[in-house]
Amino acid sequence: MKKLLLLLVITCITFSGFSQTTYIHCGKLVDTKKGIVKEKQTIAVKGNKIMNVLSGYITPRAKGITVIDLKDKVVMPGLIDMHVHIESEHSPKTRLEKYILNEADRAFNAVGFAKITLLNGFTTVRDLGGTGVNISIRKAINAGKIPGPRVFTAGKSLATTGGHADPTNGSSRRLVGNPGPKEGVVNSVEEAKKAVRQRYKNGADCIKITATGGVLSVAKSGDNPQFTLEEIKAICETAKDYGMHVAAHAHGDEGMQRAILGGVKTIEHGTYMSDKTIELMKKHDAYLVPTITAGKEVAEKAKVKGFYPEIVVPKALAVGPQIQGTFARAYKKGVGIAFGTDAGVFEHGINGKEFAYMVEAGMPAIEAIQSATITNAKILEMENEIGQVDKGFFADIIAVNEDPTQKINTMENIVFVMKNGVVYKEK
Ligand SMILES: [Zn+2]
Repeated sequence: MKKLLLLLVITCITFSGFSQTTYIHCGKLVDTKKGIVKEKQTIAVKGNKIMNVLSGYITPRAKGITVIDLKDKVVMPGLIDMHVHIESEHSPKTRLEKYILNEADRAFNAVGFAKITLLNGFTTVRDLGGTGVNISIRKAINAGKIPGPRVFTAGKSLATTGGHADPTNGSSRRLVGNPGPKEGVVNSVEEAKKAVRQRYKNGADCIKITATGGVLSVAKSGDNPQFTLEEIKAICETAKDYGMHVAAHAHGDEGMQRAILGGVKTIEHGTYMSDKTIELMKKHDAYLVPTITAGKEVAEKAKVKGFYPEIVVPKALAVGPQIQGTFARAYKKGVGIAFGTDAGVFEHGINGKEFAYMVEAGMPAIEAIQSATITNAKILEMENEIGQVDKGFFADIIAVNEDPTQKINTMENIVFVMKNGVVYKEK
C-alpha cells in the first residue's frame, strides 16, 4: 500500500502539468542494462528525453498528454549499427558511378538510405567511409532537415596506395591522379598523421582504416596487410589527440594483429582471425564488429554473373562464408562484440537480419540486442544518452510485434520508431 502511494505521488509530480509530454504504454519493455524483458510499463517522454519509466499503464491526469498504445508490442531502445555506408549502396553499376555521379547525386541517394535505416529501427549509426557526403548528411539530419539516424562518421576511409580504400583502384590512369593524405591515401607515418588531421578538419567523428585488403575493391588480395605497425600507431595516437577512436577493416590475421597492437578500438569483419588474435583482442579491449549479413550477401551476389567485377568474385566467395564462423569462435572465447552490418555493401534497411545470424551462431538473443544498444553506446561514449530506455536518456524508442528473446527475426519487422522524441513510424 505504501509502495502504491509513493508511486502515485511520484507519478503526480513527474507526469502532471507538462505540455508536449507523451506516455507510451508498453506491453513488454526490453531492459538492455539488466538484460531482462519487463511486462506492462509506461514510458514518459518530454521533448527529446525520457522523463521516467514506471510499472503498469499510467493514465495521464493532465490535459495535453498524448498516449501511444503499444500494449501488444515489445518496446526497446533504438538500435545502433556500428558499420554502415550511409551514402552508397553496392550494385553492378558501382564502378561506373564513380565517374558519372556528382556529390549532389550521392547526397540525394543518401537521403533515401538514411530514412530507410531509421524506419527499420536504427536510430544511431557509425558510418565507416564514403566521399564526404556522409558528413553533410549528418549535418542535415542533426539540423532536422531530413529524417535519419544519429550519424557518427569517419568521412573518407584511410588506405595505402592500391589498398582497400584507395578510390582510384582499377581505374584508367588517364582519368585519375595519384591521391595523397588529403584524399585519405597515406604511405608513411607523417602522411598518416596528416590524413587523420585532415579528417578532423573535414568534420569526421572517428577514423576508419583499411588494415588489410578487402572483398569489393578492384584489387587482387582480400586479406594482405596494408599498413605498417608504425603507420597504424601514428594514426591511433593522432586520432586520440583529436578525441576520435579508430575502426579497422581487417580480413587477414597479420593486418588484424598490427591494427590491435597499433591501438584500434574495433575490428571490422575479422574473417581470418586466429586464436592468438582472439587473445590479443581481449588483452587490448578491442571489439569485433561481425558484419555477418555482409558476408552472406556478398557470397550470394558473387554467384550472379556480372554483379561484381571478375577480380572481386573469388574474394567474395572465399571471405563471405567465413565470417559467421569467426564471429561464433570470437564470441565463445569472450571477445567483446559490437553489432554492425556493413549496410551499403548490401541494400540499406535490412540491417536487422544480423540479429538472427548472431543467434544462429550461438549468441543469446538478449546479448545480441545488448550488443546493438549498450555496447555500441559505450564505444561511442554515449552510454548515458542512448542504448537504454531509462530516465534522462534520449527518447530513441522502437517496437516489434513479438518478444525477440523468443523469436529473434521479429527484429526484421520494426513497427514503431521514435527518435529524439519524434515519432517516425507507427503501426
Ligand atoms: Zn564497410
